[in-house]
Amino acid sequence: MSVVRLDHLTKVFPGGTKAVDDFSLTIADGEFLVLVGPSGCGKSTVLRMIAGLEDVTGGDVLIDGERVTDWAPKQRDIAMVFQNYALYPHMTVRDNMGFALKLQHVGKERIGEQVTSTADLLGLGGLLDRKPKALSGGQRQRVAMGRAMVRQPRVFLLDEPLSNLDAKLRVSMRAELARLHQRYRITTVYVTHDQIEAMTLGDRIAVVDKGRLQQVGTPDELYRAPANRFVAGFMGSPSMNFATVTVRRAGIRLTVDLGGRTIELPGPLAERVDLARYIGSPVVIGLRPAAFSPAGPDEEALEAVPLGVESLGDEKHVLFAPPTDGLRALADGDVPVAVDESAGTQLWTAKVGQGADVAIGRPVRLRVDLGAAYFFDPADGMAVP
Ligand code: ATP
Repeated sequence: MSVVRLDHLTKVFPGGTKAVDDFSLTIADGEFLVLVGPSGCGKSTVLRMIAGLEDVTGGDVLIDGERVTDWAPKQRDIAMVFQNYALYPHMTVRDNMGFALKLQHVGKERIGEQVTSTADLLGLGGLLDRKPKALSGGQRQRVAMGRAMVRQPRVFLLDEPLSNLDAKLRVSMRAELARLHQRYRITTVYVTHDQIEAMTLGDRIAVVDKGRLQQVGTPDELYRAPANRFVAGFMGSPSMNFATVTVRRAGIRLTVDLGGRTIELPGPLAERVDLARYIGSPVVIGLRPAAFSPAGPDEEALEAVPLGVESLGDEKHVLFAPPTDGLRALADGDVPVAVDESAGTQLWTAKVGQGADVAIGRPVRLRVDLGAAYFFDPADGMAVP
């Protein structure tokens, strides 16, 4: 059993930066938990407090119910893999991998066995006598993993371990990490700013912003039911499109004004009591890029002028100015500009099929699947359920 519990963890650095703010989370035995968030949100600091490499300002770290907050790192039986791998340059792969066991006074023979079997597992068998500088980035990464694994720690902490690898290697190492975890089921906390890594590796994902836990859940839960606008915008690629719209009542139906048009919300959405609370007042609508598709001639559609078209092989991403004001300006004969306050200058993206006939500067008509729309409170960004 290795359950890690973070209980109201807080970290204020000298100088006053509150890097971690009242952070509570329980990581189950054998779970692969990914901490994800933008640069500077405090995720490394959380990890370092679990490892004991950073003092806590407030709160506690518990492992299997035992308070370890004041324990030295080596007493915690935790292994950490860093972004830069931190291998000892003058030691061979074999010595790097066996070093922690040597410090624990494990017998030579036993170290040899552990190192050999771990190296075989990671495909490092033929490289044991090399020094780190004679290894590729991916091999170094494996050695760093192997060095952490030989100890069979209670908890594994990984801080952006794949970020120094090229895109292709990153994908294969990701698969390898998933496989290793399947096999050993060591409780793991993995830090990344890459939401694709988070979605593919995590049993659960904890999304962090400004030192605070925003939401924790399975990849599917975060994608389908984001708790707030930050999580909605962070999970999914390309990210969700946002605009401030006005909800109105039309008989028993609700409508929104979008891109100078009044669009009726589909039945199930219109029946949502919480959305009805926003009638006549602004609400933030969120539409994923896949909610758009090329419209037929008679279909109700949003008109957009592509400002960019990215072809990705089997799909195209069409970038255009956020509708509300942009399209109104277009109707008036002006150049469309992104002036929606909530969206800032962030362009919207529609994901369409490879066969879609789109070109920069040529207006397209896009059907919007409002049934797939999300709504957020304009003041606090919380999802409207
Ligand atoms: P990244 O993905 O860029 O590594 P992160 O989410 O891991 O970012 P942290 O490294 O945890 O973020 O940093 C959180 C905040 O604390 C940042 O504002 C950072 O500048 C600040 N910080 C981190 N370490 C220290 C330190 N030793 N002294 C003062 N401030 C620090």
